[in-house]
Amino acid sequence: MQGRPRRAKRELSSEEIAERREETRERAVDSWVPSTRAGKMVKAGEITSIDDLFAKGLQVMEPEIVDVLLPGCQDKLIEFRKTARITRQGRSFSFRAAVLVGDKDSYIGLGTAKDKERYPAINKATRKAKMAIRKIRKGCGSWECRCRESHSVPFKVEGTSSSVRVMLMPAPKGTGLVVGENIKDVLRYVGIRDVWSKCRGNTASTLDFVAATVNALAATSNVKFSADMARKLEEKR
Ligand SMILES: [Zn+2]
Repeated sequence: MQGRPRRAKRELSSEEIAERREETRERAVDSWVPSTRAGKMVKAGEITSIDDLFAKGLQVMEPEIVDVLLPGCQDKLIEFRKTARITRQGRSFSFRAAVLVGDKDSYIGLGTAKDKERYPAINKATRKAKMAIRKIRKGCGSWECRCRESHSVPFKVEGTSSSVRVMLMPAPKGTGLVVGENIKDVLRYVGIRDVWSKCRGNTASTLDFVAATVNALAATSNVKFSADMARKLEEKR
């Protein structure tokens, strides 16, 4: 950064962005006037956990719900692009941001947004990621391990996004994340430590890889499949 003062002036550092987002979060929670039934219940303290919210069949229609119920939720800018569109007046620029949010345990969400300005694009994407938050199921589906801890995926799952396909497979303890560098953070954001993977698709697209991984993780809590697999996993023991 020291050696590139011009760039430093124009762009915010990741710490500055994180700080601004935290301030925004606090302000947002304080001044939040909920407009949905779920939001009103959360603000009134009638719902105190996100599991409780989903158990009641309610949805996250306001990002502040996540700010209140998952205060430890972290976010990461996955992709940030300046895009140009040719118009009669010349070129018109806008920014596209993709943000990943996760509580480092069992909730993850991905959001993308566009705006003419940098920070609003990131902010919008973060809000969308929070509204897209979903629960994933962890476990140890590994034959070599067979512990009962939640360090891996409970069974083989697959997710796609555009031409990218990501397959995640249970791995024994100590395996680590045997995945591409571009999706390691997705697994870290839900606290998965060991996993094997197979990936296919256009290697240039980080966003598609991240989205495919989020979709694969979401498949762990596909109710019908999980119940069936849970029974099978029980029988195995
Ligand atoms: Zn295990």
